[in-house]
Amino acid sequence: MSKKINLILNFKRIIIGVPLKNDLGDNNCFLNVLIHTLYNITPFYDYLMKEKFNNEQTFFIELKKLFVKYDRKFKLKSYPNEEPLDPYEFRRELANLYRREGKFRLKRMEDPIEALLAINNAIHSYSIGLNSLKECDKPCNPQCIAHKLFWINIYEQEVITIDISHILT
Ligand SMILES: [Zn+2]
Repeated sequence: MSKKINLILNFKRIIIGVPLKNDLGDNNCFLNVLIHTLYNITPFYDYLMKEKFNNEQTFFIELKKLFVKYDRKFKLKSYPNEEPLDPYEFRRELANLYRREGKFRLKRMEDPIEALLAINNAIHSYSIGLNSLKECDKPCNPQCIAHKLFWINIYEQEVITIDISHILT
């Protein structure tokens, strides 16, 4: 069996050092890791900053607000002297978006990979004009930024070996 995995990530800049708030019991570490990562993936950053979201798309608006604050702190080099960035509003929106599934509730420990999938799901659903996350298995054409960056093609190839040496002799 062979597998071919296509994964293209474009990191043009790596900005670290802007702290994100994670008070004892907030359990925001899984989300803070993702915020740092997504901020540093240039095509994702560019997409989010360029896209115009309507007032109901609070999930994206809160992530965008965080990126704007992140930019400001980094450019002004103000982060060592100020309060860390608070991801609370974005976490609240993520919890709201997945309220039915009971995922990402405030103060609960969660998994960063599941959160990345949830964020990608939300972006994909938004890009194909869905209001709910239920039908998000519909394809996007052109590909949304979530699929462009994180889609993985896995090919399985079965190899059958037949021994014909006994026929040839
Ligand atoms: Zn998509």
